[in-house]
Amino acid sequence: LIDALTDQAAVAIERIQLVADVDRARLAAEADKLRSALLASISHDLKTPLAAILGAAGTLRDYFQAMPQADRTDMLSTIVDESERLNRFIVNLLDMSRIETGAMEPNASLHYLDDMVGSTLRRADKILSHHETRTDIPASLPMIRVDPVLFEQVLFNLLDNATKYAPPDTPIRIRAWEDGHWATIQVLDEGPGIPPADLDKVFDSFYRVRKRDHVLAGTGLGLSICKGFVEAMGGTISAGNRTDRSGAIFTIRMPIAPAPPRMGEMDDESD
Ligand code: ADP
Repeated sequence: LIDALTDQAAVAIERIQLVADVDRARLAAEADKLRSALLASISHDLKTPLAAILGAAGTLRDYFQAMPQADRTDMLSTIVDESERLNRFIVNLLDMSRIETGAMEPNASLHYLDDMVGSTLRRADKILSHHETRTDIPASLPMIRVDPVLFEQVLFNLLDNATKYAPPDTPIRIRAWEDGHWATIQVLDEGPGIPPADLDKVFDSFYRVRKRDHVLAGTGLGLSICKGFVEAMGGTISAGNRTDRSGAIFTIRMPIAPAPPRMGEMDDESD
């Protein structure tokens, strides 16, 4: 009986090995496919601005003397704008790789949300020029535990998306409230929103909902960086749609600081 069982076990192990081998081969093929798609996407995102920079620089070199001043300024603006886009993309790629290799070490401490929102709005002043921003953050909201540099980058990416996907002159709202041990922070716009089937996928690297989103100056990395940063700080982020009108809602939840002990409680402790 023991011999029969041993034989059966050996057969079972062999089968499991076979299934594991097939699985491994399938996973390796899938990883290869993903790697190629990723490289194609990165190459495209690097090539597009670089081609514009080369074109403008070449035209300036060859026709500088004959060009009206306004055209020279146009060409120089193209070079500056496209270099900024390239720079943004490379910074995003570096952030992404820091998240993926686990090298992200948030420097978390306690901060007031409205301070961080204020400084992000000042930094985003240029991109927000065609939108009115409304903030609704209660003065009583406790401090939240975040790395302010990373958190402000998350807010900036969400505002940047709102300005890219919502029509000009529509308002963008930032609101927050206390929710048990969490602070909930939302960014709402009045754009087309996100199809329900894409709500989870928008956080994947290089994922874009609409084909035409590729022509907007995006990298397809903004939201995956938001997710990486927020989760590294112990929070969560999700995407949704407004129910009162068309528009996207991004919801972040971050741990709030424990309330400081009240006077009476402090006295009790010292007793
Ligand atoms: P991108 O650089 O393309 O903006 P993101 O990672 O920031 O990359 O966003 C991924 C995709 O999610 C976008 O291409 C767009 O399709 C969709 N998306 C992001 N934010 C919004 C928004 N506020 N409204 C509608 N669609 C959005």
